[in-house]
Amino acid sequence: MDLDFTPEQKQLYEEVVEFARKELNGDIEARDREERFSHEQWKKACEKGMAGLPVPQEYGGRGLDYISTMIAMEALGYGCEDSGLIFSLGAHMATASVVLWKLGTEAQKAKYLKRVATGQMPAIGAITEPNAGSDAFAALTTTAVRDGDYYIVNGEKRNISCTTTSELFNIFAVTDKNKGFHGGITALLIEKGTPGLEILPPVSKMGLRTMPLGGFKLNNVRVPAENILGGVGGGGQVFNVAMDWERVTLFASHVGTMQRVLEKTIRYARMRKQGGQTIGKHQAIAHKIVDMKMLLEASRLLVYKAASNLQKSMGASMESSMVKAYVSEAYVEVARQCIQVHGAIGYWTSTGVERVLRDAIASTIYSGTSEIHRNIVARWLGL
Ligand SMILES: Cc1cc2nc3c(=O)[nH]c(=O)nc-3n(C[C@H](O)[C@H](O)[C@H](O)COP(=O)(O)OP(=O)(O)OC[C@H]3O[C@@H](n4cnc5c(N)ncnc54)[C@H](O)[C@@H]3O)c2cc1C
Repeated sequence: MDLDFTPEQKQLYEEVVEFARKELNGDIEARDREERFSHEQWKKACEKGMAGLPVPQEYGGRGLDYISTMIAMEALGYGCEDSGLIFSLGAHMATASVVLWKLGTEAQKAKYLKRVATGQMPAIGAITEPNAGSDAFAALTTTAVRDGDYYIVNGEKRNISCTTTSELFNIFAVTDKNKGFHGGITALLIEKGTPGLEILPPVSKMGLRTMPLGGFKLNNVRVPAENILGGVGGGGQVFNVAMDWERVTLFASHVGTMQRVLEKTIRYARMRKQGGQTIGKHQAIAHKIVDMKMLLEASRLLVYKAASNLQKSMGASMESSMVKAYVSEAYVEVARQCIQVHGAIGYWTSTGVERVLRDAIASTIYSGTSEIHRNIVARWLGL
C-alpha cells in the first residue's frame, strides 16, 4: 500500500489549488451575503474540467482516474472558498456527468454528455420531495406514466440544488408502485423549458448561500421515452451510482476545506498572544488543534479508501456511507473549533471563519443524513 501521491498527482493538486485561489475566490463575501451564484466562476471552473473530471475526454471530460478525481476535488476544496460553487460542481458531476457516462445510452451520451461533462449544460439529480426526504424511495409520489413514445410526469420536488441554474434535471419517478426501489423507480432526463416544468423560487438559507436551493413542480410533463436513464425501473441503480460518487467526490472537497481551515487555525494560534504567550502554547488550544488534525487525517483516509473501492467495482456503498457520516461531522467540528480558537474575530463575517461553519452544517444532511448513513452501515454489519 502506497499512500503517497505520484508526481503527476502532486502536480494536479498544485494546478487546481493555484487556479482556484486565483480565479474562484473574488468577492466571495459579497456573493455569500447576496446569495448570488457566479456564472462566471462556474464557467471558469468548467473550462478547467471540474464538471466532468473522471469522464473520458472523448465525451468532454478530463479523463482522470478515480483517485486523481478525488485529488482534484480535494485541491478545489483547499483553494476555493466558495463552498456553494464547489457543491454545485460536485453534485453536477456525480448526479449527471458520471451517471450519463456510466449508465447512459450511446444516444443520450451523444445528445447530452459532452455538454454536461464540459459544464455547458448545468445539470442536477432530483429525488427529494415535500414528503419524501430520508424515506425517498418508499415515499416517492412523483409518477411517470407511459403514453406511446413518451412518459407523462407529475409531481413535485423540493430541496433540490441548483434548480434555477440547471438546464437538465435527472428526476426520479415511480413507474411501478408495486416494485419499490428495485424495479419500480425510473430516472428521466428533463430539459429546462419543457412545458409543465415549473421552477419555484429558491429558498433563503444558512450556508452554501452562493448555490440556489429550491424546488419545482411537474404538471403533465411529456418526456420522450429515449430520455429514460438506466432503463425503465433502473432508477435505483442510477441513484446508487450517483450517490456513491457524490458521497466520495464532494467529501474529498470537504477534506481540502478542512486542511485550509486547519492551516488558518494554526497560523492564528502561532500569532495571537494572550497570557504572555501565543495561544497555541496553551495546552487547551493545542489539543483542540491536534484533534482537528486527527479528524482531518482520518477523513482523508476514509475518502481515498472509498475512492479505491469505487475504482475496483461499481459500488462502494458501506465505505461511501462511512465517508458521508464521518467526514461531514468532522467538517462541522473542525469549522466549529476554528471559530473557538479565533475567539470573537472568528465570529466576524469579514474573517471568513464563520462562513465555513455555516457552509459545513448542511453536509450532515445532504446526500442522506448522518442518521440514515449509520442505518446503512448497521445493515452492512448485519444489524
Ligand atoms: C444543501 C442541500 C442540498 C440538497 N440537494 C439535493 C439535491 O440536489 N437533490 C435531492 O434530491 N435532494 C437534495 N437535498 C435533500 C436531502 O437529500 C434531504 O434533505 C435529506 O435526504 C433529508 O431529508 P429531509 O430534509 O426531508 O429530512 P427528513 O427525512 O424529514 O429527516 C428529518 C430528521 O429525521 C431523521 N430521520 C428520518 N428518518 C429516519 C430514520 N429512518 N432513522 C433515523 N433517523 C431518521 C433524519 O436523519 C433527520 O435528522 C439537499 C439538501 C440540502 C440540505
